[in-house]
Amino acid sequence: MGWISDKIKETKAQKRYVSPIHANRASEIGHPCLRYLVHLRLDWLKAELPSVKKQTLFDDAKYHEEAVIDTLKEAGIIVLQRQRPFWSEKLQLIGHIDGVILCSDHELPLEIKALNPQDWHQIDKVDDMIEYPKVWVRKWPFQMQAYLGLANQKEGVFILKNKLTGELKDFPVSFKEELWNKIIAICTTVNNYVSAKSYPEPAEVEYDKVCRYCPFLTLCVPEALREKDVEIWENSDIEELLNKREKLLPLKKEFDEIEKALKKALEGADNVIIGSYLIKGKWIERKAYTVPEGRYWKREIIKL
Ligand code: SF4
Repeated sequence: MGWISDKIKETKAQKRYVSPIHANRASEIGHPCLRYLVHLRLDWLKAELPSVKKQTLFDDAKYHEEAVIDTLKEAGIIVLQRQRPFWSEKLQLIGHIDGVILCSDHELPLEIKALNPQDWHQIDKVDDMIEYPKVWVRKWPFQMQAYLGLANQKEGVFILKNKLTGELKDFPVSFKEELWNKIIAICTTVNNYVSAKSYPEPAEVEYDKVCRYCPFLTLCVPEALREKDVEIWENSDIEELLNKREKLLPLKKEFDEIEKALKKALEGADNVIIGSYLIKGKWIERKAYTVPEGRYWKREIIKL
């Protein structure tokens, strides 16, 4: 919250861009919404820019990847062919592996992921990723299988880094015909929609876990938000208030949590000095009353 962090945020904001997408990407092919994959191909130019927070996370991931490569080097493990692309014309599928590790004359495609400590402790094998509550983790097994399928390899390796402690863990991943066939089917379906310039229906995915983070949310307006017909209002004053509200929301949440903690901690305190604060208080007797009948408008504001 000082001038340095303000400067960093400004720089991150300026770095944001959307890159052209003319093919299916291995890193996205496990996304649970087919429509999203079609939007990626047809509407990449209209995608919402990543938030500054997300841009910071991207940069952080690159930093962690480099740090892992250095740690491997230090241990005498050589990583070759960094960011080598693999491509299938037929599937219009592209993937860039983080590198290849040489292991007893075998080349193992390598994928590095840096995770928060809770996730790091919960994932020990590729099966732990498949049903993982976080959607982006569920994409990783597809990503690796896409590399294996594209590179015609039987085995790859994941290295997971604990972002808090720097610890690494690794596990092998074998080529799975069934998952590769699924990837082929997804690519074929997406390619058909792209050729026809049409879209599948929005998938029945959880709004909070998937759509909320989708850069095409405003283009798509998924089923969850379409229970009733949507009316479009052109009102820049209200929009400005909504934008300000959205910016202040994280602060309000923090403020409410602090208020709750202080209410509990300071109950009964009167004329108490803590640091540079004087705390005063008294008990107020509450009179019983009944709320008169009536109605009020219950609203929900969803950021698109
Ligand atoms: S908003 Fe939801 S349903 Fe629509 S494309 Fe994105 S993920 Fe799919």
